[in-house]
Amino acid sequence: MKGGFQGLKAAIFEGRSSARLKSCPFAFRPSKLELDVTRISNAAREARLLIDSHAHLDSPRYADDREAMLTRASEAGVGAVLSIGIGEGPAEMHQALDLCRQFNLKREAGAPLPRLYASAGIYPHSTIAADDQALAKLAALLAEPEVIACGEIGLDYYHEGAPRDVQRRGLIHQLEIAAARQRPILIHCRGTNESTDAWDDLFLVLDEHWAKTGLGGIMHCFGAGWEQARRSLDLGFLISFAGNLTYPKAQPLRDVAARMPLDGILVETDAPWLAPAPLRGQRNEPAFVVQTASTLAGLLHVSEVEIAAATTKNFNRLFQLHPDVGN
Ligand SMILES: [Zn+2]
Repeated sequence: MKGGFQGLKAAIFEGRSSARLKSCPFAFRPSKLELDVTRISNAAREARLLIDSHAHLDSPRYADDREAMLTRASEAGVGAVLSIGIGEGPAEMHQALDLCRQFNLKREAGAPLPRLYASAGIYPHSTIAADDQALAKLAALLAEPEVIACGEIGLDYYHEGAPRDVQRRGLIHQLEIAAARQRPILIHCRGTNESTDAWDDLFLVLDEHWAKTGLGGIMHCFGAGWEQARRSLDLGFLISFAGNLTYPKAQPLRDVAARMPLDGILVETDAPWLAPAPLRGQRNEPAFVVQTASTLAGLLHVSEVEIAAATTKNFNRLFQLHPDVGN
């Protein structure tokens, strides 16, 4: 296929889907696919794939086309998706795991789907509902092998869907459970307008309750400054960039991204929200992570293949995944 990554992007964004694309589970060098396929080890093959490190696959907005949407992700070169298990509250925390199992079974049976992983957590707004029963459910979910992360959890002072002290308490309880289960965490952090208030409080909590675990995590949909990025890296976190990296007004964020080390980055969609620039305002989906990866490659002056390799390696390192398993 002409143009490799760019060609695929064009295909995705023009809504086309060729037979060639469909037959290609790893997309970056399709022109040599037939020759290479027997020689590339599974690990090397996976390094060419992108991982969407954060997507809400259980959103009702995918009710009518969830499998087709995941197939499009696979066609676009997305090899894995971390399905976020927050639902609309603790009662729905298990939904990501259910989807993960459902679609991984189909994948194992030969369906062209990305590998799914799941998380579970109580979103900052939902911490009012973080009672003993909800926390017990979280602990049980985090014991499941497919549930590799606790999140998204954190602090949101922008919307302040729960009082700040309730959010902090809910966060700390979940950190304790994640530590006991040895699961990295997925952090959602948003301050009031230009303020770093939520980030300042977040680092106080992480320094006291998380740093000692050495488990690290992901700063999901990162939107803060270099100081917050650097402190996160120091705490063993990866910085995950979403579609907002592509927005015209996001130059300060692009300036931060341009300073990132390759071993500290991830890409994500936060689907169904935050579709990247060419599709902004539409429903987002994991296939569109290609656009964010392309923007990040430009900012870091590396190829798109290098971004795919680095982000996949970082994801597998954080979660201690062995990419050959399950192929
Ligand atoms: Zn999210």
